[in-house]
Amino acid sequence: MGKVYSYGRQTIGDDDIREVTNVLRADFLTQGPAVGVFEQGLAETLKSHHACAVSSGTAALHLASLALGWKPGDLVITSPLTFLASANCILYAGATPDFVDIDSTTYTMDVGLLSKKVEDLSRKGKSIKAVVAVDYAGQPCDWKGLRTLADKHGFQLVNDSCHALGAAYEGDTGYAVRYADVAILSFHPVKHITTGEGGAVLTMREDLDARLRIFRNHGMTKDPNRLERNDGPWYYEMQELGFNYRITDIQCALGTSQLRKLAGNLEARRRIALSYDKLFGSDSRFITPRTASYATHAYHLYPLQINVSKVPRSKREIFEDLRQNGINCQVHYIPVHLQPYYRRKFGWKAGDFPLAEEFYAREISIPMYPGLTEQDVSFIAGRIMRAVGEV
Ligand SMILES: *Cc1c(COP(=O)(O)O)cnc(C)c1O
Repeated sequence: MGKVYSYGRQTIGDDDIREVTNVLRADFLTQGPAVGVFEQGLAETLKSHHACAVSSGTAALHLASLALGWKPGDLVITSPLTFLASANCILYAGATPDFVDIDSTTYTMDVGLLSKKVEDLSRKGKSIKAVVAVDYAGQPCDWKGLRTLADKHGFQLVNDSCHALGAAYEGDTGYAVRYADVAILSFHPVKHITTGEGGAVLTMREDLDARLRIFRNHGMTKDPNRLERNDGPWYYEMQELGFNYRITDIQCALGTSQLRKLAGNLEARRRIALSYDKLFGSDSRFITPRTASYATHAYHLYPLQINVSKVPRSKREIFEDLRQNGINCQVHYIPVHLQPYYRRKFGWKAGDFPLAEEFYAREISIPMYPGLTEQDVSFIAGRIMRAVGEV
C-alpha cells in the first residue's frame, strides 16, 4: 500500500527536537523557565494579557469552570457539535449542561436560537450562568452577537478555541479574549501546535488568571499578598480545592518552538483548503465548508459534507473504502447530546438538535495538515470522488 493519510497530524522538525533536548540537559524538567516563556508567547499570539498553560485542553476547560465559579444549579450552554470536553467541563463543576443548535452554514452556535432560548428562560424567571461557544473547525463564532447577548443578560462567555488558534474575527487575531471572558486552547498533536498533551486558558482579567493558577496547582499559593498568615519562607496555604494540572518544561519548550511555525502552518492549511474548495466546490455530490464574511478560518479541520441523498453509497461504505485506500478520515462530531451518558442522565434523544444531527449524517473530516503537498491533495480528492460513487 502507498502513503497513509490521517485527518490531522503534527509537524515536528529538528528545531523542535533540539529545543526539547536542551531542556532535558538543563536544570528543570517541570516548573522551570520554559513554562513562562511559552505562556508569554501564547499571550502575544492571541493579544491577551494573561495565558496559563496546563496539562491538556480538558484541564483548561475544567479550570475555567472553577475560576468562573460555576456551581450546582447553574445552567451552562454549549454546542452539540463539539468534542465531549466542552460539555463535560460543565458537569465537572456540578452545573447543568444544555445545548443550542448550530447555524447550518457556519456550523457554530446559532446566536438567534441562543437568544430565543435565553428569552424563553427569562420569561420563566430563569437565567444562564455561561455559554461555552466553540469555533468549530477553526471558524470563529458570531462573537459580536454573543457578546451583545452576554452583556444584555449578564452571562459569562467561554471561547473553546481548541480548533481556532490563528483564526481572526473581522481581521482581529486577538478576538478570542476580546469577546470571551476566557479562551481555551489544546495542544494535542492534531491541533495547530502541539506539546504532546497540553492546553491553556487565556484571559484579559487578572482576577481570573490568578484563580486559574491557584486551581492548576492544588489550590495552593505562596504569594505573600494572598496568604492569610505567614510562618516563613517555606510557608504555603491551600485556599481552594485544586488539582495538579501543571504542564512540564519539556512540553513548553516544544510549544514555544511550535509557535514559531504557526504562521507558516496556517498558510499551508489555507492553501490546502483552497485546493479542496476548488476540487469539490462545483461537484453536487459534496458540500464544502463556507467561511462567514467576518471570519478568517484557521482550518484545524476540513469538514466535507457528502450529499448523502445524491450519491449511491452510504457514508459508512465511503468511509470504509477510504480507510482501505490509506485515507483515514474522522467524523467531527457525534452530537454530544446523543452520547449514552447524556441520553441517560438528561433524557436527550434524536431530533432534539436536528441541524447538528443532519451535519453529523453528512460530515467527514478529510486530511488537513501542513505536511500535505498539492499532489497529496489531488490524490486524496480523487480517491474521495471515486469512493462516493457516480451519481
Ligand atoms: C481537542 C479539544 C478539546 C480537548 O483538548 P485535549 O487537549 O485533548 O484535552 C476540547 N474541545 C475541543 C473543541 C477540542 O477540539
